[in-house]
Order: sequence, then structure tokens, then C-alpha cells
Amino acid sequence: MTRLLRDHIACVRTRRSRADILRRVLPWFCIFLFAAAAEAQVQVDLKFKRLQFIAHEPVVATVAITNLAGRDIELHDADGQSWLGFEITGSEEQPIPPLSGANREPPLRIQAGQRVTRQIDLTPLYPVHEYGAYHVRTNIYFADLGKFFYSGTRVFEVTDARPIWQQTVGVPDGAGASGEVRTYSLMTNRFPDHTSLYVRVQDQDTGVVYATYSLGRTISFEQPQAEIDRSNQLHVLHCAAPRAWSYARHKRRPVIRRNSFRIGLAAAGLLTTFLACSSYAAKSSRSSGGDSSPITVVIDAGHGGYDRGGIPGQRVSEKDMTLDVAQRLGRALEASGYRVVMTRNSDVFVPLGTRCAIANSYRNAIFVSVHFNSATRRGASGIETYFYSRDSLALASAIHHYVAGGAPSENRGVRRRGYYVLRRTNMPAVLVECGFLTNPTEAAYAQNASYRQKLAEAIAAGVRSRNSVASSFSTTRVATAESIP
Ligand SMILES: [Zn+2]
Repeated sequence: MTRLLRDHIACVRTRRSRADILRRVLPWFCIFLFAAAAEAQVQVDLKFKRLQFIAHEPVVATVAITNLAGRDIELHDADGQSWLGFEITGSEEQPIPPLSGANREPPLRIQAGQRVTRQIDLTPLYPVHEYGAYHVRTNIYFADLGKFFYSGTRVFEVTDARPIWQQTVGVPDGAGASGEVRTYSLMTNRFPDHTSLYVRVQDQDTGVVYATYSLGRTISFEQPQAEIDRSNQLHVLHCAAPRAWSYARHKRRPVIRRNSFRIGLAAAGLLTTFLACSSYAAKSSRSSGGDSSPITVVIDAGHGGYDRGGIPGQRVSEKDMTLDVAQRLGRALEASGYRVVMTRNSDVFVPLGTRCAIANSYRNAIFVSVHFNSATRRGASGIETYFYSRDSLALASAIHHYVAGGAPSENRGVRRRGYYVLRRTNMPAVLVECGFLTNPTEAAYAQNASYRQKLAEAIAAGVRSRNSVASSFSTTRVATAESIP
């Protein structure tokens, strides 16, 4: 302000004709300054750390309150007014009302001349998760004077980050919401000077978001590695700087509060350590080999988590066999230059709808679901391959040709059936039953790692020759295109 005045004065000196204006303006200016000081018995400042926030991440406002009343004051709710409030308007200038049941601030005593700062997360107080710009100002109600004091208006923007990875998991037993499912998403957002990695926990069916928070800076051209372990914790390894990988462990400790439906996430559950970048170099380079081929193979390991697959009392658990074959298949296809996407890569439960949604999010993809069979009759045995849509017949025939052709088991043929994952995927989709785990001989095969490797390689061979096998083999029972409506 004084520099402005000085500049102004300097300017006036050189142009004497402006001196009159200054002489007229200056007294008014002084009166204005004095009035502002008299008004400011309580001075309120509002700041946001950033201009941009990701939907559902905490939007923390820093409110600084300076007591200029010349005596100690206490700010407290009175006359039906809460002492601290925010006036928020959305992108279309619509006022954003506070959420009901939002916590009241406890009374605040400020000594004369002191400045007190409070950090307040607006997201539990106001519905500010829609995309767009929000204008905010803080008001302080000073009950002694029955008067409001306001901060200046600040703007923040809510946007959404780009999802780069997603996995749906069951809430573990004893966590308060067992039986429900939650979807973890990893997202990135490019800020003007850096890119941040985010994790979100939500229930995709109801749309409820339980948490969104930043895992910190990341290097956008290196894909983070995400894994879910047996207790449904999310582990993320991402490149934080050119030579530093950052490791974050997201521990699911879901505590549901009845009103707000937010999940409390213990900060202690988030560990960040640094590992050498080189330890992951091999893995990154392997998965980036698929650029030459635009085909994505979505590999679906049947069952998982509490869904063991098979029939009650079955000794060999289907979910473990399917995952192992699926992972071997993934490696075989990656080696052939395919881009591979796993609907699950660990022992987790993934709903069928999610498996299809994952597959349907890729263009130019094919879907291969890996299962093992079961029957109450111990003698039941053999390999069978299922498809549903006409587009899937060639893929089913090719996979079946190699799997049934290479296995010592009976050939039960290619069959058409409307299994959920075959009906709800909009791409060539096949489900292979790699033998009966209830048959002692086939169960013994399945428990042998080199046999599972052979199964995986046979399926991979079928994928590679999906466009050339169907016509060349007619000896097995293959449904014909004419029999498909
Ligand atoms: Zn199965």
C-alpha cells in the first residue's frame, strides 16, 4: 500500500497537474484506513494450501483469527449462530448448505492481540465433491457484539484424477462391514508443477466414497505397481523421484460412522519408505513389452477370497489353482507381446460384475476365464471349454484344441453356455474348465506345478492361434456358428 502511495506521489511530482487530485483523495483514503481498523476487532484470514483438489480428498481450509478488540475475547455459539461458519457457492453461484449433523466448533478464547490458526477440513461439513469451482469465505460470529466478521473470498477447484488401476475386494470378517465389497482405485493428477498419486476406497454399487487421499508425488511415466495381499491390504510401489521408489501400504481398518458413512483411515496404516529404483526395473521392462500388439488379454482367475470354488468339502481349493494357472498364462502371453490384464492377481474376492467391468474397459481385448471343474461323482473327468457369443467360438475352439489336445484328460468338448462372465463381456470371451479337482487323478495333475505350466502354455497357444485353428480341426465336438442364435 505504501509503495503504491509512494509511486503515486512520485508520479504526481512529475505531473503537477495531478497534485489537486491527490490532495482531494488522500483525506478520504485516510478515513477509509481508519474505518477499516475500527471495524476489524476480529480479523479473519482464509487460505487453502492448493487451488485444486481431487473429489473427496480433504479440502483443508486454514483460518487465522486475530483478536484486535483490545481485550481477551471468547468466540462461542450463541443466538442460534455457530461462531465459525463458511459461506460457499458452487460453480453456478448456488449456495452450498452445510451438511446436517456437522460437528460444531468448540468455543475459542483469544488473548488480546493474539492470532489463532485453525485447520478445518470442509469435506465432512459441506458437500464439496462435485467437480467445479467453489467460492468460500469464512464468517466469525462475535456474540459479545452480535456481529459477523468476514474473511476475503477464496476459490478452490474440485476435479477428478485419472484412474490407472482398480481392484474390488471383500471387506474382511470382523471389520464391521463384512460381506460388503470395496473398490480400491489408484489415480493420478497432474498439477501445474508435479503429478500426484491418489488412492480411493469406495463402494461402487452405492457410489459412497469412503476415502480419497494422496500418496504423494509420482513420476507420471512410470506405472505404479499395486498388489492386494491376503488380508486385503493394498500395497503400492510407485516412483516418487527419478531414483526413489516410494512404498505405501494401505491398511484397511474400516470403521463406519453411522451418519456420515465415512471410513476412518488410520494414518499409521500408511507407511512410506524408499526402495532402490533398480529393484523394480526388471518387472517394469517386462510388462512394457506389449506395445507392438494392440490386443489386450483379460485373464480371469476364477473365484478367490472367501469364494473357494468347487463343491463343499472339496480338498483341493479351486481358487488357488485358477490363480496359479492364470498368472502363468499372463507371463506366457506377456512374453508373446500381449498386453495382459488380470481381474485378480491375489487371493481376493472379485464380484462377477467387476470382472466384466474390468474387461469391458479395454478396447480390442479378449477375455479368458480359468476354472477347474468339480462333481459329486469322483469319476467325472475331462476338459471342457465354454463360450457364449458367436464372436467367441473361434477363440474357444482354438483354446480347447490346445488344452484338450495336450492334457491326458478326457475331451468333453466345446460347449455353449450363458455363464455370467461370458454374457456380460462385450468381446470374445471363453471359460476353460481345466479338469476335475474332485477326480483323484486330475486333482493330482492340477497340484503339479509343471502340469499347471503346461495348461497355461496350451491356453496361450490357443490365444495366439485363435484366428487359424477353428477351421483346421473338426474331430472334437465343436459347436458350429449356425447353432448359435
Ligand atoms: Zn469355477
